[in-house]
Amino acid sequence: MVDSEKTTNNANVTGGKTGEESPTPKSNVIEFPPAISVRQLSELLDVSPIEIIKRLMRSGIMANINQIVDFKTAATVAADFGYEAHLKHRLTGKNNRTGETKKQQRAQQAEHPSGLILRPPVVTIMGHVDHGKTKLLDAIRQSNVVDSEAGGITQHIGAYQVEIKGKKITFLDTPGHEAFTAMRARGAQVTDITILVVAADDGVMPQTLEAIDHARAAGVPIVVAINKIDKPGANPDRVKQQLAESGLVVEEWGGDTISIPVSAKEKLGITELLENLMVVAELEELKADPSKPAEGTVIEAAMDRTRGALFTVLVSSGTLQEGDVIAVGENWGRVKAMFNDTGKRVKKAPPSMPVAVLGLSNVPQVGDVMIVVVDEKEASEVIEKRHKEAEKEAYISKTVSLSNVYDQFSAGKIKELSIILKTDVQGSIEPIKTSLERLSSDEIKVRIIHSSTGNVNESDIMLAIASKAVIIGFNTNAEPGAKSSAEREGVSLRFYNIIYNMVDDVNKALKGMLAPIFVEVIDGHAEVRAVFTAGKKENIAGVSVTDGKITRSSSVRVMRGSKKIHESTVSSLRRFKDDVREVATGYECGMGVDGFGDFQVGDILEFFRNEKSG
Ligand code: GDP
Repeated sequence: MVDSEKTTNNANVTGGKTGEESPTPKSNVIEFPPAISVRQLSELLDVSPIEIIKRLMRSGIMANINQIVDFKTAATVAADFGYEAHLKHRLTGKNNRTGETKKQQRAQQAEHPSGLILRPPVVTIMGHVDHGKTKLLDAIRQSNVVDSEAGGITQHIGAYQVEIKGKKITFLDTPGHEAFTAMRARGAQVTDITILVVAADDGVMPQTLEAIDHARAAGVPIVVAINKIDKPGANPDRVKQQLAESGLVVEEWGGDTISIPVSAKEKLGITELLENLMVVAELEELKADPSKPAEGTVIEAAMDRTRGALFTVLVSSGTLQEGDVIAVGENWGRVKAMFNDTGKRVKKAPPSMPVAVLGLSNVPQVGDVMIVVVDEKEASEVIEKRHKEAEKEAYISKTVSLSNVYDQFSAGKIKELSIILKTDVQGSIEPIKTSLERLSSDEIKVRIIHSSTGNVNESDIMLAIASKAVIIGFNTNAEPGAKSSAEREGVSLRFYNIIYNMVDDVNKALKGMLAPIFVEVIDGHAEVRAVFTAGKKENIAGVSVTDGKITRSSSVRVMRGSKKIHESTVSSLRRFKDDVREVATGYECGMGVDGFGDFQVGDILEFFRNEKSG
């Protein structure tokens, strides 16, 4: 056999037709070097690396895409695909089919310094309500808890680990895309892979579609678990069809989405699901250096009655050790004790391991970042720095609105305008999507990251924060809770009932020509209790703040009964003899109002601000 191109590497060529020089009747002949990477093998055999990894897994070999396998192993895999492998003795840069030279290989290795090793994937379960997310989490937990000898009683710490063929997988305990995106909105993305649960008897439902969009917006790969296959009405093919309509094409139909039929109730398909998660994890090449000081994210926190502040941290890199000094959000302390998901005390937590930690005096917040520091001094420096950054952030708009999209784009902060579109009827979605996406230019792209019917809800707001998106409603409104969250978080909401106006506004926004809209925010109210004369004509009202607060920069409306007497700004604000900037509920103060002195006892003062929105 010549040391050159293989006889054929086309997996579609059927046995026997291998060209003139190969009389092999049964199979296609292919040449391999003595050692070959999974990636090279997949290219030579012209099959996806996922397929190769799966075959290897079946023979008990857990390989990642860059892993080198020996000739014998490669030959066995090749045989599965109908190839007869021959050993190629010399591998030169020139004759290597992938064109990968030694130099390139070395460069590739240099990109992965030795300290980095594969870490367990962190997996979240999402899907429509009642499709079996909780049941599946339970079934997985029961299947393979890592530390089952500790009496088998699992503790709820917000996440748990299972083991499959000697490798671990971490599962977050709170299913659903709402929790997933709420974490992202707080700036923490801990999930590496998401399992999308779809009940085979119910099919793709609105929250299935939401979950797909939320995972996509985060760039997290999806593995589909088609659940409830034990039910008589189960129809997995219909689920696959519906998924394909939403752009998730399963592998057996030529796509790249892995889908596994399971029954959480009967515990069917669980091992296969776990194996496939490992396959995706290998492809994602999730790595961390366990030799470094730990970093992680708080995924759960509470005040434990007997033990004090207890929080669960998911270590993202490094190894957390008992005794480490940690800065968590705005708190610091020393790790006094750590417990794993079976309640067993542990001394160390390597990457991707969730551990409940004792050692802080205050309860941190979910989403807080934990880092290990040298001592108390460094801890306070870190916290001080975080403080400053938080203050700075408060001034810079974190969210995107139609009126600031141009500024954010010009400042290089965004490259595309992400839109969440809510409409009253399904039929409006496609035409609006097309009209908006058509406004994309070479410089800035318009992308609809999520669209659905109904009012704007909390989960839309979280997605908007997490993905820096604006929300546009067509013939819809916002749910009351969502409206106040949007106001609090500064998420831009705009509503239209004429498509032309919507498209026109987005077009103007992209060119920086859209005027902002303002909304009035009420700061608080006060009641006039006494009136004093101060100097010539000026009158001062002695007031008591009945709700909210008064600030020196507020606008004010003087109300007598239901009638507005005057509207202007606060001219002076004093408590005792001091000028103050603000006064809270329950306190009294003296105040002047610009251009107004005709106060009467019993007048109500309403304090407000006009804030830019949308
Ligand atoms: P979630 O809302 O997605 O968390 O759904 P649950 O896990 O609470 O499950 C909803 C219902 O479906 C419960 O009554 C479960 O017992 C049932 N269920 C979940 N998985 C299966 C399954 O594989 N087969 C059958 N027959 N029922 C299931």
